[in-house]
Amino acid sequence: MAQAELNIDLDAIVGNWRALDRQNTGKTAAVVKADAYGLDAARVAPVLARAGARRFFVAIAEEGVALRRVLGPGPEICVFSGHMAGDAALLRDADLVPMLNSIDQMLRHVEALPGHPLGIQLDSGMNRLGMETAEWAALRDIAMAQRPRLVMSHLACSDEPDHAMNPDQCAAFREMTDGLDAPRSLAATGGILLGPDYHFDLARPGIGLYGGLPFIDARPVVYLDIPVIQVRDVAPGESVGYGNSWIARKPTRVATISAGYADGVLRAMGPEAHVYAGETRCKVLGRISMDLIAVDVTALAAPPEQVELLGRHQSIDTLADWAGTIGYEILTSLGARYARRYHGG
Ligand SMILES: *Cc1c(COP(=O)(O)O)cnc(C)c1O
Repeated sequence: MAQAELNIDLDAIVGNWRALDRQNTGKTAAVVKADAYGLDAARVAPVLARAGARRFFVAIAEEGVALRRVLGPGPEICVFSGHMAGDAALLRDADLVPMLNSIDQMLRHVEALPGHPLGIQLDSGMNRLGMETAEWAALRDIAMAQRPRLVMSHLACSDEPDHAMNPDQCAAFREMTDGLDAPRSLAATGGILLGPDYHFDLARPGIGLYGGLPFIDARPVVYLDIPVIQVRDVAPGESVGYGNSWIARKPTRVATISAGYADGVLRAMGPEAHVYAGETRCKVLGRISMDLIAVDVTALAAPPEQVELLGRHQSIDTLADWAGTIGYEILTSLGARYARRYHGG
C-alpha cells in the first residue's frame, strides 16, 4: 500500500481544550472553522461537545449548517462572517448565531430574521472584520435592544505576548464595551495565554486545540507516516529529482516516499525538510514532487518501510518553519489522499 497514513488523536484535542479551559477564567468555546483546521469537524466537534464545549465558531453559514447536522440541537453555533446576503434561511433553519460585522449586516438581519439571535463583532484595531468605533457608537443602542448573545473582537498579535498591540486592543475593546449588558469575548488561543485581563466571559481557541503554537504546552494531535516505495543507491555526481537541485557528493542510499505537495507537504519546505525513520533523522533530497519525495536513508542499517513526517519528533510548527509559514497553514493544507485514522474520543 502506497497510501500515507494520517493519524489524528482526538483525546489529545480534548486534552488541549481542557488545558486551555483550565487556564481561562471565563467559558471556553471551540473554533472549528475550515473543517476543524482540516482535521474534520464532523469527527472533532462531537468529541469536544462531549467534553463540555457548549459553543462553536465557524467562518461561514454553510459550515454552520453542516456542523448543526453533526451536533444536533443544543450547542450554540456562531458564524464569524455574520449575516451575508442569502444567509437568512441557513441561519434560521440551522439555528446559527451570526456575529454581525456592520450596520448593513444588522439591518439585513433584523429585516430578514426579526427576533433571531445575533452577536456583534467589533474592530478593536485589526481592521479585518467588525464595526469600527464610530459605527458602533451610532448603532450601539439599537444593537443592545436586540440583546446580543455575544460582543466580540479579535487580537492581531496575540502570538507575541510583549507586543504593544495587545494592551492597545484590550483597552479599545473595553472602551467600546464596558458597561454593556452582554457577554464579551476577545481571546483566541493566544489571548488565553496572555492572562486574565484578556479572558472576559468567553474565549475562542482554535489552533491550540489542534496542537499548534502559540500553545507551547499543547499535546501533539497529528501523526503522518509515509510509506517507502523504492530504494536505490546513488553514486557521487548523480542528481536526484526535478531540476537536478541535489547532487550526491558521496555514495548515498535514497528512499522515495509516497507523498508530495499535492498532499500538503509544501514544496516550499525545500532544503530544510527532514523525516524520521525510527530515531534517525533523514534529510529530504532535492525538490518535493507532487506525489513523491526522496530522502537520504544512508545512515540506516536497513531501508525503512515508512518514515514519519509529523509526530513525536517534528510538529506542524517545525514544518511551518521550514516553509516560512505557520502551523495553521500546514494543518489546513493536509490533503485528501491520506488514509485518515482517528484515535480516542
Ligand atoms: C480563527 C479565529 C479564532 C481562533 O484563533 P486561534 O488562533 O486558532 O486560536 C478566534 N476568533 C476569530 C475571530 C478567528 O478568526
